[in-house]
Amino acid sequence: MLIETDLTGLPVLVVGPPGLTTETVRRYQRAGAVVSVAASPGDVTTAACEMARLAVLVGPAATWSGTRAALAGRCPVVTEPAREAPRGQVVLVGAGPGGIELMTLAGVRALADADVVLTDRLAEVGDLAALAPGAAIVDVGKRPGHHAVPQGEIERIMVEHAVAGLTVVRLKGGDPYVFGRGGEEVAAAVEAGLPVTVVPGVSSAVGVPGCAGIPLTHRGVSHAFTVVSGHVPLEPRQATALADLGGTVVFLMGMHNLVPLTTALTRAGLAHDTPAAIVERGFTPDQRSIVGTLTTLPDLAARAGASSPSVIIVGEVVRQSAVWDRRVGAASPSGLAVGVTS
Ligand code: SAH
Repeated sequence: MLIETDLTGLPVLVVGPPGLTTETVRRYQRAGAVVSVAASPGDVTTAACEMARLAVLVGPAATWSGTRAALAGRCPVVTEPAREAPRGQVVLVGAGPGGIELMTLAGVRALADADVVLTDRLAEVGDLAALAPGAAIVDVGKRPGHHAVPQGEIERIMVEHAVAGLTVVRLKGGDPYVFGRGGEEVAAAVEAGLPVTVVPGVSSAVGVPGCAGIPLTHRGVSHAFTVVSGHVPLEPRQATALADLGGTVVFLMGMHNLVPLTTALTRAGLAHDTPAAIVERGFTPDQRSIVGTLTTLPDLAARAGASSPSVIIVGEVVRQSAVWDRRVGAASPSGLAVGVTS
C-alpha cells in the first residue's frame, strides 16, 4: 500500500530483520522520508533514536518490546507484522484503447501500488510516472528507432522482479487477453509460483468502432460480431464461415493485409458493396475514419495513407453510423459509397 501522506525530509527509523523490512523501507522512501534501518533491536543506537521522528517496527511482536522501551518518549512508534512470504506479484493491466480515462479504476490503483511497470507501445495512458510514482518504468514496446524487447525477455524481466518481492505491473494496450500475449505472460508467472491478477481493459476491438459511431450489433441488422486477427490472410474456409455467419467482422492488425482480407470475404460470398470502414488511431487527436465498401476500401486506404494502429470493420452496421452518412460521395449521383471522414 502506498503512504498517502507527504513525509518529505522526515527522519524515519525502520527496525526489523533484513528481507522483512525491504518493502516497508521502499514505501516510506517513496513518501519522501529519510529512512535509516536497524537490522535488529540490538542495532538501535542512541543516535538513531534521537534523530528519528517516527519509528516503524517490522517483524514478530516478540522482538518489539526492547525496542519500544529504547524509543519510549522519543518519537511515535508504529508496528507492522512480518509478512511470511515475499510479496512479489504480477498484475497484468489492460490500459484500454487510448488515454487514461479509458482505463479501469482497478488499473489505476494497480499502477499506484506498482514497484515496476513494464509498458507497451499501445498502452497510452499519459503521464505514467505520475500514475506509478513509486515504480521503475521499463518500456518494452516497439517504437520507431526503438527495438521491441522479445516476448521471452519481457517474461523473464517480469518474473525476475516479482520473485525478488516486487509488485510488477505489466501494462498492455486494450485488453491483456485480446491478441496481447497475456495468456503467455500469466503462464510464465504461474510457472514461477507467483500470484498473478489480470485487470481487464477496454479492447480496441469493441471500443474503437464505437468511437467512430459504428455499433458492432444493431437490432435487425447484425446480431453477432467476430473479432479476427488480420495478421495473416484468411484461409478460404475461415472467410466462408465469416461470410455465412452474417454478422459484423472486426479485424485487428490487418492493415498490411487489407487487400487479401477484403478479397477473401468477397470470394466467400459477401457482396462487393458490403459497407466497410477503417478507424485509425482511435481515441487520439489523429483519429480518422475511412469509409467505403469491401471493394473500394483498400484503394481509399492507400490514397489516404492509412496505417496501423487501425481497426477494420466489415458489415451492414457501418451504415448505421454518422461516418457513413458523411462519407465523401455519399450524396453523389453515382451513389458511390466512398470517402474519408474524421
Ligand atoms: N490487446 C489489444 C490489441 C492488441 S493487437 C486490444 O485489446 O485492443 C494491436 C491492434 O489493436 C492494432 O494493430 C490495431 O488493430 C488495434 N488497436 C489498438 N489500439 C488501437 C487504436 N487506438 N485505434 C485503432 N486500432 C487500435
